[in-house]
Amino acid sequence: MSPLELRSHVPAGPIELKWDKHRFEMKLVNPANKRKYTVLVVGSGLAGAAGAASLSELGYNVKCFCFQDSPRRAHSIAAQGGINAAKNYRNDGDSIYRLFYDTVKGGDFRAREGNVYRLAQLSVEIIDQCVAQGVPFAREYGGLLANRSFGGAQVSRTFYARGQTGQQLLLGAYQALEKEIAAGGVTMYPRAEMLDVVVIDGRARGIVVRDLVTGKVESHLGDAVVLGTGGYGNVFYLSTNAKGCNATAIWRAHKRGALFGNPCYTQIHPTCIPVSSEYQSKLTLMSESLRNDGRVWVPQRQGDNRPPGEIPESERDYFLERRYPSFGNLAPRDIASRAAKAVCDEGRGVGPSGLGVYLDFADAINRLGESAIRERYGNLFEMYQRITDEDPYRLPMRIYPAVHYTMGGLWVDYNLMSTIPGLHVIGEANFSDHGANRLGASALMQGLADGYFILPNTISNYLASTKLEKVDPTHPEVRLVEAEVAERTARFLSIKGKRTVDSFHRELGRIMWDKCGMARNAAGLQEALVLIPRLREDFWRDVNVPGSHAELNQALERAGRVADFLELGELMCRDALHREESCGGHFREEYQTEEGEALRDDEHFAYVAAWEHTGPDQQPRLHKEPLEFEYVHLAQRSYK
Ligand SMILES: Cc1cc2nc3c(=O)[nH]c(=O)nc-3n(C[C@H](O)[C@H](O)[C@H](O)COP(=O)(O)OP(=O)(O)OC[C@H]3O[C@@H](n4cnc5c(N)ncnc54)[C@H](O)[C@@H]3O)c2cc1C
Repeated sequence: MSPLELRSHVPAGPIELKWDKHRFEMKLVNPANKRKYTVLVVGSGLAGAAGAASLSELGYNVKCFCFQDSPRRAHSIAAQGGINAAKNYRNDGDSIYRLFYDTVKGGDFRAREGNVYRLAQLSVEIIDQCVAQGVPFAREYGGLLANRSFGGAQVSRTFYARGQTGQQLLLGAYQALEKEIAAGGVTMYPRAEMLDVVVIDGRARGIVVRDLVTGKVESHLGDAVVLGTGGYGNVFYLSTNAKGCNATAIWRAHKRGALFGNPCYTQIHPTCIPVSSEYQSKLTLMSESLRNDGRVWVPQRQGDNRPPGEIPESERDYFLERRYPSFGNLAPRDIASRAAKAVCDEGRGVGPSGLGVYLDFADAINRLGESAIRERYGNLFEMYQRITDEDPYRLPMRIYPAVHYTMGGLWVDYNLMSTIPGLHVIGEANFSDHGANRLGASALMQGLADGYFILPNTISNYLASTKLEKVDPTHPEVRLVEAEVAERTARFLSIKGKRTVDSFHRELGRIMWDKCGMARNAAGLQEALVLIPRLREDFWRDVNVPGSHAELNQALERAGRVADFLELGELMCRDALHREESCGGHFREEYQTEEGEALRDDEHFAYVAAWEHTGPDQQPRLHKEPLEFEYVHLAQRSYK
C-alpha cells in the first residue's frame, strides 16, 4: 500500500458483526513465536499501560516508555468523572446501539461509524476486565455497580469511583503492567522521552529516546511501534491537562510520514475553575458529573453584582435548562460551553472577571442532604474549596469553559495503524472515535478499548502478515535519526537568547485561544497564520535554555515540546480555516444557525481531514477520508 492511500480498512458487512468477522479473518501469531517479536510502546497512561500489559500477557517482548518517574503518574490519573459502558444496569433503555448512536451524534457526525460501533461493543468488556482487576467502582445498596449520567445522553451509563475514576482505572492497568514487568515480559523505561521515530524501508522500526536524568540519547529497535502518548491540549498553554502533556511523539511521527487527522477539533470543557491571574500556568477541571446535581445559571440582568444568595429565583436564568429542556444541564460539552460564553458575552457573567457562570448545588443539597452530595463529589468539592477558598456547600461554584481534550490526533485506520506501516496509535493520541466533539466519560472507554482489546488483535495481524528484516543499531537510518536528535538538542542550548521557553508558550497559547479557541473566524485564523510563524522565528532566535544536555534539564525538555507546539498550532489553524462549517468543538462564527448553534455543511465537509507534512516551511497537503453514515442518519443535532 502506498503510505498515502487513506484506506480506513473498516470491514464490510452488518455493523454489529464487523469486529467479530475482522477478528476471525485477521492472522494470528503462533504462541511460540510471539516472544520473537519486540513491540515498543510509548506511553503508560490508560491506553499505553493497557496495551503494553496485554501484549506482554500474549507473549510479546514489550518495551514501554514514559517521561514520568513512574507509569502511575500518567495524566490519565487525573480523570475524574467516569467511564461509559452500555451495560444497561439501570434498565433505562440503554444498549450498545444507543451508546453508538449517542457517540456518533455527539461527535456531530464527523466520526467513522464502524469504529464507534466497535467502541460501544467493547465498553461492556472493559467494565468486566476492570472489575476483575479490583477497580473499586461505586456500588448501589444491593451490590450492583452504580451509574450516573454524563452529557449528551439521556440514560445513566457512566461507571465511576467517586471523582477519582482515572486514578482507580490507572491503578488497575498499572498493576497489570507491573505484573508483566515482574514476569519479564515488559521492560519499563521511566524518565525516557521519545524524541523521534525510526522508519526503515517504509516501516516504523524504532524510536530514539533521551534519558531525562542523564541526558543520554539512545535508540530502541523493534518490530512495531505503538504511541499512546496522550493529547495536545497544552498547545493552548492553559488547559486542564497535566503540565507535562505534549505533542512531541505524535508530531515527530507526523514529520516522518504519519498523517495528522482533524487537528483543529479541540474540546473546550464547560466546567472548569475560571482563570484568576495573568501568571496562572494551569487550569482545573470540575468534573462533568457535577452537572448531574448542579444547576447552571447566571443573573438575568446584565452587570448584576449581587451575591448569588441575594438574587431571587425569578431573576435567575438557568440558561441550559431554558435552551435545552430535554437535556438541561447535561447538554454536551461543546453546546454547554458555547452557551456559557454567550451569556458572558452578553455581560451576564459572574465573578471578578465576568467570565464565569454559577454551578449551584443548593437544590440538590435540600433534596438529598449534604452527606449524599459529599459522598458523590466530596473530593471535587474539597479541591474547589482549596483552590478558590469558597465553600461550594454554601455558595454556588463559579465555572468557565477551558481547553480539555483534543479529538484530533494521528490518523489511524480501523486497525489503529497510522499511515506509517507498523506505527500504531492508541488513546487520545489518535484521532479516532469522537468526531468533532467527545462525549464525557468516553475517553477512558476509548483508551482502554484500544489498549486492552483492539491493539492486541490488530498488532498480531500486522506482525503475522509482514515480513520484517532484522535491523540493528548500526543501520544508517538509526544513526541519522540519532544525529538529528542530538543536533536539535545542541541547537536549543546554543541559542542563549533572552526569553524563557514559558514566555513563548504563553504567547502561543494566547494566540491559539483568541483565534482558534471556542469560536473561530476566517480573519482571526488568517491572522494566527501570520503570528505563529513569526513567533516561531523569534523562538529559534531568542529562546534561552540554561544548563546542559547531560543532566536533568526541564527547560530543555520544555523547549523541545514548545518548539513542536509552535508547528502544530499552525497546522491546527490551517485545518480550522479550511473547514468552512461549524461542527462540534469547531465553531466557525460565520457558520451558525439563527439560534447560534453549529451549522454543518455535510455536502462539502463530511470527511476526515488528514494532513501530510511536506517538508520544513512547506504548506501541508490535505487528504480526505470521506465519511459515510449508513446507520445514524445525518441530521442537525438537537438537544432541545
Ligand atoms: C482533568 C481531566 C479529567 C478527565 N476526566 C475524564 C473522565 O472522567 N472520563 C473520561 O473518559 N475522560 C476524562 N478525561 C480525559 C482522559 O483522562 C484522557 O483522555 C485519557 O486519560 C488519556 O489517556 P492516554 O493513555 O491516551 O494518555 P495519557 O494518560 O496522557 O498518557 C500519556 C503517556 O504517554 C507518555 N508520553 C507522552 N509523550 C511521551 C514521549 N515523547 N516520550 C515518552 N513518553 C511519552 C506519558 O509519559 C504518559 O505515560 C479527563 C481529562 C482531564 C484533563
